[in-house]
Amino acid sequence: MPPDASATPEFLHSTCPHDCPSTCALEVERLAAGRVGKVRGAKDNPYTAGVICAKVARYAERVHHPERLTTPLRRKGEKGAGGSNTGDAFEAISWEAALDAVAEAFLKAEQRLGAETVWPYFYAGTMGHVQRDGIERLRHVKRYARQWSTICTALPEAGWLAGVGLKAGVDAREIEHSDLVVVWGGNPVSTQVNVMTHIAKARKARGAKLAVVDPYRTGTAAQADLHLMVKPGTDGALAAAVIHLLLRQGAADRDYLAKYTDWNGEIEAHFADTTPAWAEAITGVPAAEIEAFARLYGATKRSYIRVGYGFARARNGAANLHAVSCLPAVTGAWQVEGGGALWGNGAIYRLDKTLIEGLDRLDPSVRAFDQSRFGPVLTGDPKDLQGGPPVTAILVQNTNPAAVCPETKRCLAGLARADLFACVHEQFMTETAALADIVLPATTFLEHDDYYTASGHTFLQAAKAVIAPLPECRSNHEVICALAKRLGARHPGFEMTAWELVEATFAASGHPPAETVWQDRWLDCAAPFEQAHFLDGFPQPGGRFRFHADWAKAGRDHAGMPALPGHWTRWDQADAARPFRLVAAPARSYLNTTFTETPGSQKREGRPEIMIHPQTCAKLGVEAGGRVRVGNDLGSLVIHARPFDGVQPGVVVVESIWPNGAFEEGLGINALVSAEAGQPRGGAVFHDTAVWIEAL
Ligand code: SF4
Repeated sequence: MPPDASATPEFLHSTCPHDCPSTCALEVERLAAGRVGKVRGAKDNPYTAGVICAKVARYAERVHHPERLTTPLRRKGEKGAGGSNTGDAFEAISWEAALDAVAEAFLKAEQRLGAETVWPYFYAGTMGHVQRDGIERLRHVKRYARQWSTICTALPEAGWLAGVGLKAGVDAREIEHSDLVVVWGGNPVSTQVNVMTHIAKARKARGAKLAVVDPYRTGTAAQADLHLMVKPGTDGALAAAVIHLLLRQGAADRDYLAKYTDWNGEIEAHFADTTPAWAEAITGVPAAEIEAFARLYGATKRSYIRVGYGFARARNGAANLHAVSCLPAVTGAWQVEGGGALWGNGAIYRLDKTLIEGLDRLDPSVRAFDQSRFGPVLTGDPKDLQGGPPVTAILVQNTNPAAVCPETKRCLAGLARADLFACVHEQFMTETAALADIVLPATTFLEHDDYYTASGHTFLQAAKAVIAPLPECRSNHEVICALAKRLGARHPGFEMTAWELVEATFAASGHPPAETVWQDRWLDCAAPFEQAHFLDGFPQPGGRFRFHADWAKAGRDHAGMPALPGHWTRWDQADAARPFRLVAAPARSYLNTTFTETPGSQKREGRPEIMIHPQTCAKLGVEAGGRVRVGNDLGSLVIHARPFDGVQPGVVVVESIWPNGAFEEGLGINALVSAEAGQPRGGAVFHDTAVWIEAL
């Protein structure tokens, strides 16, 4: 829906579309029909509360960036494998010619090898459901290869569902009623700033304590009363030791355990051996610190765990997250206001997405590829191809797998294949776009209509375009519909505008009209207190939280998974050849690779650096700013060292995701991250990497 062409500056409401649990309610200054000024958080939204991150506050520099793509491009030069061959590789063409070329290539590929040779590929560059998920409609109608979306939520979701049984939890607004907030395996200062607003309220009003569990001293950990600096991948051991101590201290709520959980003698006996000394040997956290944390947690009924995603991004990540989710079930913290836990709220919105995703045309027998294994799929790993043809045509929207996916070398090699036709629809010339055959310029969220849900809060938001699209830029929805027409794909969703899809989806889901939600700015979908706290039972057998995880229910690949919380040693353990464990954490000013193009973010981040404990630096003979080579079996890269004492000596951290091109040899941090799937149903293991380091 085109915005009003008013020339009077005014603030219009919108929603942040980026891959962040906060999904902030925004107010965007429109300076003219095609120009934005300031962006600020909506003060009257109870979750956003007027606070947004700096990267989005300076969004004008991204929307009006001189390097925004503004015309369709066709490759004229050779594809390179370096990911930076933008130079004279492309020529400008018309939209008609570009869409015709894509359709022709897809039809040819289908004729030659069948529909499953075409792989539409997407993720969360925008979290708006219409613009993000419409590619699924094209896929299902055309019977193109499916995408098993694993890169972000598969591992933590499996862990959360194993215990709680539903992707929902206690409203984050209750944090202000908490006496202890535990941020476990996340860094909201960098990645979800609004959590800190609510924690600050609790600290000010109630003197609440903040405890952080994280392998390094993040911005959040630096503000904490207690920081448990675990080795990456050992959170399950820490949680099991805390349960041991809660039992020993008499802090377990026996009535709650009996009424609301599957607790029994076998489970109780399991925790007899998970002592603080046992956990210290695994986690590297001194037993005294574990005991101090358990005392605090056990003594505080109003304790709220904000469960992060980060610590689940490991081979043993689902098991670790399940272990952490057990803590409020031991103390019965779920029963009180400000108590319990939240990982994500995806289940509360109850949306019927049949029209958007073409679910009425989904055929589960069509092969599905694991999204996190982009490199192995494109380079023809037989296990991934499942006996079918190679992928010879892709359409990429909303993601930049050349830098984001594990095993970068294989991703780049796959994208560089001469026999692969790639169309990338993007806002900037990313490293994925630079290896495409056709590049299409995309709108930003300020230039199109959509609706948004959030995992970090409870508001459903509808947003209309704030400014007219930049010349020649088209939305994902428009491109999908235009391609559908050329490809002979028929579905009512291809005949509707983006706003009509929002309206129809809200109507089909039993929500108020989209226009009403837009005018009201948001619709609070929070569950009543009893439901959000699972006081009427957990959606599990017998209504009971499960300490005893049924991993077979969670996914096919469950062999060997431990039923009870503890330390599962399916991980990339450090050894003599690779003595360090690497955490590839998110940088504060980037969001995946989004914002790596904006000057404000680039200035703040400086350059890629590896944080190494000063003792390790001394042993390696590395000085501040010195170059080191970091590697493992997958390859190696060169990076500058930053001595940092907020990490255990055997752990190193690289905040990212920097483009590959920001590194000396053109390979970024995900070159070292394995594409091996986490159990029980896939998931990228970004923080489960053993490496060696040598000074240069
Ligand atoms: S905190 Fe997250 S949702 Fe809010 S503006 Fe920043 S990126 Fe967007």
